[in-house]
Amino acid sequence: MFRLDNKIAIVTGAARGIGRAIARTFAAQGARLALVDVLFDEVSALAAELGDGARAYQADLSVVEEIECLVEAVTGDFETIDILVNNAGICPRLPFVDSTEADWDKLVNINAKSQYFLMQAVRPIMKVGGGGRIVNMASAAGRVGSVANASIYSGTKGAVVMFSKAVAREVASDGILINCVAPGCIDTDLINNLPPEKVQALCDQIPVKRLGKTEEVASVVAFLASDEASYLTGAVIDVSGGWIMP
Ligand code: NAD
Repeated sequence: MFRLDNKIAIVTGAARGIGRAIARTFAAQGARLALVDVLFDEVSALAAELGDGARAYQADLSVVEEIECLVEAVTGDFETIDILVNNAGICPRLPFVDSTEADWDKLVNINAKSQYFLMQAVRPIMKVGGGGRIVNMASAAGRVGSVANASIYSGTKGAVVMFSKAVAREVASDGILINCVAPGCIDTDLINNLPPEKVQALCDQIPVKRLGKTEEVASVVAFLASDEASYLTGAVIDVSGGWIMP
């Protein structure tokens, strides 16, 4: 079940955290991987760990020209693209009253614009290949609003959910299926920059009473990318230990 044998997958933000777990899970399921991050040394080390089927690429995905160069490089190396996992993102803690225009632009460009234009760049390649799968990383914050001073972040993740649904309607006839995963509190650097008492308070609100593991998000992404998820598009799967039940 959920095999990805010989599928060509782009995974963004693969250098660490959830993206790294997705890369390892996809490799175990047989995928060939284009691993993308701004952190080239880290993503190169991961590609080396995963063997011949994985290659590392450096790109700042908040810049559309870099997205275009990336997709050209990946298709040059692998010939096609079957799967795109739009995972790269940032979540600085920014109280509403202190947030600036520069903060807004940075968060929107990295978390939302990058996903939108990467989908647009891979669409013609997936269409020629007979279809594809796109999984966009949303967040519980984009479902109910952040509880940790991340209002701009929440807006970007809400945007991810809505443009994913709208684009899913437009590209279904090309055989391209687009779904979102909305993690709750997952044990990564992104969460661990919170004070310990805040992390404990979050865990107390989660029905399963713990942070999620990166592998527990990766397995859901693998399902969405697999042949078994062939009648699913425009959906959002909450991976939050029961924290979010919209
Ligand atoms: P992380 O910070 O550990 O990893 C994010 C990766 O994205 C890093 O390797 C980083 O270098 C890369 N990245 C950042 N900006 C980039 C850019 N402009 N171009 C290319 N790469 C870039 O974070 P994580 O916790 O693994 O989060 C991964 C995704 O999951 C993010 O989209 C995040 O919003 C989402 N998410 C995480 C949690 C959580 O609890 N950790 C919860 C909900 C949603």
